[in-house]
Amino acid sequence: MSDEDEYAECVLCREPTEYPRAQKGSTLCPVCEWQEGQRSACSG
Ligand SMILES: [Zn+2]
Repeated sequence: MSDEDEYAECVLCREPTEYPRAQKGSTLCPVCEWQEGQRSACSG
């Protein structure tokens, strides 16, 4: 059993995320999540 399999992959870069595989919807790693936040924060 591997702990790595407990986590979902990032939908953008395929890195492991902090979310469980059972997490619904798109899962993002901390890096991509931060980048998404920056993107929406900079709109306008
Ligand atoms: Zn990512």
